[in-house]
Amino acid sequence: MTNLIKTLIDCEKIEAVCKQCNKGVYRQTGQVDQEANPIVFRHACNECKDEVDFSIGYPVLTYKNKKFMLADSIRFLSGPPKPDIK
Ligand SMILES: [Zn+2]
Repeated sequence: MTNLIKTLIDCEKIEAVCKQCNKGVYRQTGQVDQEANPIVFRHACNECKDEVDFSIGYPVLTYKNKKFMLADSIRFLSGPPKPDIK
C-alpha cells in the first residue's frame, strides 16, 4: 500500500450555471464522447435537465491557477458513476 500525504489547501469550486433556467448547475451524466478532440463530457442541469457538452467535467476545483477534475469524473471513462459534491 502506498503511503499518502494529505494536506489541507484553499481551493475554489467552479460550477457551470445552467443557461436555460439560470438556477441549476450542470452535472455530468456519465456520457463521454471519447472520439471528439478534445473529448467531451455530457452534462445535465440538476434543476431543468437541460443537456450540454463541455470539454471539462464540472464541478471543477482550481488551485494555484490549475484546474482539477474530480477523480470520479475520470474513472467513469470505464463506468458510469455520476460525480457530485455539495
Ligand atoms: Zn437548468
